[in-house]
Amino acid sequence: MALIVHKYGGTSMGSTERIAQVAKRVAKWARAGHRMVVVPSAMSGETNRLLGLAKELAPARQTPEYLRELDMLASTGEQVSVGLLAIALQAEGQPAVSYAGWQVPIRTSSAYTKARIDSIDDQRVRADLDAGKVVIITGFQGVDEDDNITTLGRGGSDTSAVAVAAALKADECLIFTDVDGVYTTDPRVVPEARRMARISFEEMLEMASLGSKVLQIRSVEFAGKYKVPMRVLSSFTPWDIDIAEEAQSGTLITFEEDEPMEQAVVSGIAFNRDEAKISVLGVPDRPGIAYQILGAVADANIEVDVIIQNLSKDGKTDFSFTVNRNDYARAVDLLKDRVAPALGAAEVVGDTRICKVSIVGIGMRSHVGVAARMFRVLSEEGINIQMISTSEIKTSVVIDEKYMELAVRALHRAFDLDQPAA
Ligand code: ASP
Ligand code: MG
Repeated sequence: MALIVHKYGGTSMGSTERIAQVAKRVAKWARAGHRMVVVPSAMSGETNRLLGLAKELAPARQTPEYLRELDMLASTGEQVSVGLLAIALQAEGQPAVSYAGWQVPIRTSSAYTKARIDSIDDQRVRADLDAGKVVIITGFQGVDEDDNITTLGRGGSDTSAVAVAAALKADECLIFTDVDGVYTTDPRVVPEARRMARISFEEMLEMASLGSKVLQIRSVEFAGKYKVPMRVLSSFTPWDIDIAEEAQSGTLITFEEDEPMEQAVVSGIAFNRDEAKISVLGVPDRPGIAYQILGAVADANIEVDVIIQNLSKDGKTDFSFTVNRNDYARAVDLLKDRVAPALGAAEVVGDTRICKVSIVGIGMRSHVGVAARMFRVLSEEGINIQMISTSEIKTSVVIDEKYMELAVRALHRAFDLDQPAA
């Protein structure tokens, strides 16, 4: 008898019909003898709808007072979900009880709209499980030490589910979603993309941080830290699918290093259009310039990703980096108004029409020339590389966004990720 956590995303909870299907699926697992905890998201579109209501009344602000109320508001979507799911389970004849984050409690920091989980009390949940109940806990939300309701950031229910699984030392955390697993790349861009039966935790972490939208990145970090076995699978299979088959479906996120011998060099291709490039040109090349530029950006709470500094010529250098597109205008203003004049830099220029394409694979550790192969593929397609960044298991390039799909398709083919002919 295992302790299993199921997480259901917004689409899976999208209507009362869908919730009834979720209840039947969960009841099936409970009948098979498992101790069941379920963490659902809000019904699809609900979080956006709630946040939209706030905007109708007042433009968004960054004050703690405002952000606190946003969390008060947005967290209600998940409370609706847990109540409905408990009712649906009870209608199936399955005893069930639902809790909001504060009732467990799930303690978090006070960083409204992006709080971090500090601790989860498992007492109440364990007592209910011992009494034979399915326990349903709201995703996305928690409570800070002053009992203010907090939320974990968009997509945060994944993190709630993994954190609950870690706290309960669950045997597995199953993330039910509207795709049937983790793919070698987004199948909407490359129809030949394949579902991976397994992916290592490190690769998943890279894929999530580089643009794969399947899992919230923090949930993967959590799974890694606490070694929570995690599986991504479809909630669109018939609810009465054989449970043994279901338990093996989707994509398992693994922790062991000794993968099969035939380990692919590159496991997946990630991409995103979330970034913009900024260059500070003609900067006097002397100690401290990186600090003066990036320090000012960091002080404005703007995250920087890829960075390059050119060779200096006549004592001047160019300094380029990428930021999130949402922060682009703010970063450029800051550099133009304050940093460039103070440094004596010639110019600040930028480009929002870029994208980042990355190849990811733990096989890159033991193979040389993988990055070079990536650059060759892009050159054969006539795609100019603007920036490059590498780590042990990934290589990313920044290119013009109009070549994004071409690059992803060509790389997917070149690294043998296309579907083997049936
Ligand atoms: N309902 C929240 C959102 O839409 C959390 C989640 O679904 O994971 O972001
Ligand atoms: Mg989600």
